[in-house]
Amino acid sequence: MKKLLPTSTAGSLPKPAWLAQPETLWSPWNLSGEVLSEGKLDALRVSLHDQQLAGIDIVSDGEQSRQHFVTTFIEHLSGVDFENRKTVKIRDRYDASVPVVVDAVARPKPVFLEHAKFLRQQTNQPIKWALPGPMTMVDTLYDDHYKSREKLAWEFAKLLNQEAKELEAAGVDIIQFDEPAFNVFFDEVNDWGIAALERAIEGLNCETVVHICYGYGIKANTDWKQTLGSEWRQYEEIFPKLQASNIDVISLECHNSRVPMELLELVRGKKVMVGAIDVATNVIETPAEVADTLRKALQYVDADKLYPCTNCGMAPLPREVANAKLHALSAGAAIVRSELMQ
Ligand SMILES: [Zn+2]
Repeated sequence: MKKLLPTSTAGSLPKPAWLAQPETLWSPWNLSGEVLSEGKLDALRVSLHDQQLAGIDIVSDGEQSRQHFVTTFIEHLSGVDFENRKTVKIRDRYDASVPVVVDAVARPKPVFLEHAKFLRQQTNQPIKWALPGPMTMVDTLYDDHYKSREKLAWEFAKLLNQEAKELEAAGVDIIQFDEPAFNVFFDEVNDWGIAALERAIEGLNCETVVHICYGYGIKANTDWKQTLGSEWRQYEEIFPKLQASNIDVISLECHNSRVPMELLELVRGKKVMVGAIDVATNVIETPAEVADTLRKALQYVDADKLYPCTNCGMAPLPREVANAKLHALSAGAAIVRSELMQ
């Protein structure tokens, strides 16, 4: 029988200090050359081990080989100039120096395939692999070639689809697309964002996820959250179309967030990765708090479709904090699982 309430993480986990500067986003590597390549694989092993010790059911690479969840993928594409960068406003929120699309984009070779195969060799547990979503990729670049966000997203979707098919063939069970931009550009999401995502999953047989969050616990994001008012209803704008889409699972931020839980009713029938761990604080949730969030979600999500998860990635957190949060997630899920079995 399939395990009820299988736990997982939204994606990134802290890196060891010997690999990259801790508690930093876009953290520079502390190693180089072949030693760096080997170090990334060693860190992947450690991250997997930490997830296993914490009792996480669906494991990942903890994104140990990526400096950033979007740019690391883009760096492997041709048609993008990383030298002459431009400053853009990301998600209408903060300025960042980003690469420029100067020509037709292409993926000369697989980006994550070798690491996915390596993870597959290390465990028989279900594995999940995260990729950036097309719209969030577009939003993390300056486009000097296509001059159309929609057109560029479509091109990225085709490349993501190639990558996703190879990951599936390597034994990845669940492929996740990170689309924090879905919380910002509602009209575009409904016009072409979801369609681009469906292009990215075309022909896949494995389970597919879209992760839509309010971002890491960095200042630009917490400041933005202050402006959103007492109820965060962003999800309401895009849930009806997501509900009707081919995406299997929707990964959402729930715990400590001002998202009204009843919005989940709008995606009834979909599987939901319910964020029960706040990644914007070092305070460790108690298992009882995790259980409480999951019980609230169970009012709107059928038990066999609920996947307890973290709100977002935990890369910027201290390692011991992230580990303790993973343990809390497992323990909280165990409480609710035993209630459901009674
Ligand atoms: Zn996130």
